[in-house]
Amino acid sequence: MAGGRFFCPDGIVVKSMKYAFDVIVVGGGHAGVEAALAAARIGVKTLLVTHNIDTIGELSCNPSIGGIGKSHLVKEVDALGGVMALAADRAGIQFRVLNSSKGPAVRATRAQVDRVLYKQAILEFLQQQENLEIRQGAVDDLVIKNNIVQGVITNLGEQIIARKVILTVGTFLDGKIHIGLKSFSGGRVGDPASISLAEKLRALPFRVQRLKTGTPPRLDGNTIGYDKIQEQPGDETIPVFSFMGSIDDHPRQVSCYITHTNSNTHEIIRNGLKESPLYAGVIEGVGPRYCPSIEDKITRFADRDSHQIFLEPEGLNTNLIYPNGISTSLSVETQEQLVHSIKGLEDAVIVEPGYAIEYDFFDPRDLQYSLETKLISGLYFAGQINGTTGYEEAAAQGLVAGLNAALSVTGKEFWSPRRDEAYIGVMLDDLITGGTNEPYRMFTSRAEYRLYLRQDNADLRLTQIGRDLGLVGDAQWDSFVYKRDAIALERKRLEKILIRPENSLIKIERPVKALELLKRPEISYEQLSQLELVKDHRVSFLIAEQLEIQIKYQGYIDRQQQEIEKRRRNDATKIPQNFDYDKIKGLSNEVRQKLKKSQPLTIGQAARISGITPAAISLLLIFIKKYS
Ligand code: FAD
Repeated sequence: MAGGRFFCPDGIVVKSMKYAFDVIVVGGGHAGVEAALAAARIGVKTLLVTHNIDTIGELSCNPSIGGIGKSHLVKEVDALGGVMALAADRAGIQFRVLNSSKGPAVRATRAQVDRVLYKQAILEFLQQQENLEIRQGAVDDLVIKNNIVQGVITNLGEQIIARKVILTVGTFLDGKIHIGLKSFSGGRVGDPASISLAEKLRALPFRVQRLKTGTPPRLDGNTIGYDKIQEQPGDETIPVFSFMGSIDDHPRQVSCYITHTNSNTHEIIRNGLKESPLYAGVIEGVGPRYCPSIEDKITRFADRDSHQIFLEPEGLNTNLIYPNGISTSLSVETQEQLVHSIKGLEDAVIVEPGYAIEYDFFDPRDLQYSLETKLISGLYFAGQINGTTGYEEAAAQGLVAGLNAALSVTGKEFWSPRRDEAYIGVMLDDLITGGTNEPYRMFTSRAEYRLYLRQDNADLRLTQIGRDLGLVGDAQWDSFVYKRDAIALERKRLEKILIRPENSLIKIERPVKALELLKRPEISYEQLSQLELVKDHRVSFLIAEQLEIQIKYQGYIDRQQQEIEKRRRNDATKIPQNFDYDKIKGLSNEVRQKLKKSQPLTIGQAARISGITPAAISLLLIFIKKYS
C-alpha cells in the first residue's frame, strides 16, 4: 500500500523506513478516515494508527448519515473526493429526502445505515488507497521538538517519525462513561479511553475543556410490538448520496417505526433524576443543545407530555434497534422502566444501556484555517477533538486537515474553503473565529448564502477545486465533466426551442422559449418535457433537477452571488497601518479594544476576530472608504 514519496524531516535520522512517514493520522473514526485518504490521495506517504482495525469507521451513536445541514457536508466531502457518501450508498438501508416540500436550499438527504456494511465499505476504500498504511495500536505521546511535531510514540514505546501528525481521537481523550451514578473510563462503550495521550496534550499550552454527549439504550427488535406503532418506510423515489453513486449500490431497504413517550414516561424520568449524573452534578461537560438527552427534554420542555421516538434498525443482519430520541444516562433500572412505559416497547429487552460520555476537547480558536494548531507546527486537529459533534462534521474537518498536512509536506499553500464556498467553510470559520462552549453541529441556518450553498450543487461548487488540488481522481472527474457539460447543453437546447401559445401547457400570450417557460413557478421540468418539442430521453433526473433549480431560482442566486462578490471585495480592503480606531464614532469599547489589540491588516481579518459584529465592520468600512 504505502509507496509514495517520503519527505524526511530535517535533522532526523530514520533508522528504518518502516517507522518514517510524511503524515501520521491518529484515530480511525470519521475524521481520521477522510484525513488519511486525502493525504494519501495527494501522494504523500501516510500512516493511519488506530486502536482497533475492526472499529475503523464505527458509528459510535446513531446508525445514520446525513440529515439537515449535515448532508451538505457529506456531499461537499464527496465532491472533494472523500468516501463518506459512497459508503453511505453501499450501507444505506433506508433513504429519505428531508424538507422535500421546502426550497432546495434546506433540502437534505438522510440514510439509515447498516453499521457493519458501512465499516466494511470504509475499510475497503482505505485498503485500496495507494500511499496509505494502516496499523493497529494506541498513540500515547507525541514527539515535539522546538514546538515542531516530529512523530508519535505508541503504547509499545515505538517511535514513529513524521513531518505532520493529525489527531482525530474523537470522544476518547480521558473519556469517562456515566450510567446513573456509576462511572468508568472509556472512549465509547467497549473501547478504551486515551488517558496517557490526554495527559500529554494537557501539558501543552492549548486551551482544553470538557464536553459530553450521550446515546440511548439499544433494544432487541424481536421484543418490540410493531403492530401497535406506526411504520415509517423510506422514500419511494430512493435518493443516492454520492455524486458518483447509483441506486444499484443500495442494499435491501427496510422500514423504521415511530412511537412516543407519554406522561407516565416523563413521571418515571422525573423520579429517576436523583440518580442522573447530569442532574446530580457529576457531569461537568456541556452536552449537545440540539440532540438533548430525554431527561433534558422533559426538564427543558416541561409543558410537553409527549416526544417522538424513531425506532431505527441497526442493520440487515441484526435484531438491534436504536430508539432515536431517548438518549439517556439515567440508571439502568430507570432506563428499563422508561422504555417499558412506551407504546410498543412494553416488553422490549434492553441489550445495551444508554450512557453519557465526557471527554476533553481543544479550543478551536487555537487552530489555523488549515486545521494546523497555532502553537505546535505540523500538528493538526480534526473532528470531535475540536468541539464538534457528528460524523459528518468530523469527516469534513478530516478531509481539510489531511489535505493541508499533505500540501504542506509538498511545500504548497494550504486550502480552506471560504464561508461563501462551502458549508465546510462556514463550520471552520465559526469554530476558528468564535470557538465553542457546547458541541457544535451544522445547520443550514449557520450559512449566510444558503441558496448558493445547496447540497445538490456541491459538486459544481467544489469538484474543480478538488481536481486542481489533487484530491479528485480521473473517474470522478470524468463523470463530473460529463454532468457539468450536459447541464450547459440542456440549457442551450431549451433556449432554442420556441413554444407557441397553441402548444403550451399554460396560457401564454405570445411564443416563448422553453427556458423562459421553465422559469414560471407553475411549470416543472417534468411537465415541460412532456411536450413533443421538448422531450429528450438522454436528459437524466440529476441534470434536469440541477437545471430546474438554476433556472427557477436564478434571480435569487444572482443576487446572492453579487453579495458574495461585494463581501469578497470588502474583505480585501486594506486597513491602513497604525489606524486610529478612536476616530470611529459608534464602535463599542470592547470592539475598539479588540481591533487595537489585533491590528488586522484587512477588513476580512477584522471581521474574523471573535466578537467583532457585522455592524462594527460596516462602520469601519464606511470610515476607511471616506478617508482613504
Ligand atoms: P471518533 O469517531 O470518536 O473516532 C476516534 C477514533 O480514534 C477511534 O477509532 C478511536 O479508536 C481512535 N483513537 C482514539 N484515541 C486513540 C489513540 N490514542 N491512539 C490510536 N487511536 C485512537 N454525534 C452526533 O452527531 N449526535 C449524537 O447524538 C452523538 N452522540 C454520541 C454519543 C456517544 C456515546 C458517542 C461516543 C458519540 C456520540 N456522537 C454523536 C458523536 C459521534 O460519534 C462523533 O461526532 C464522531 O464519531 C466523531 O468522529 P471523530 O472521527 O472525531 O472521532
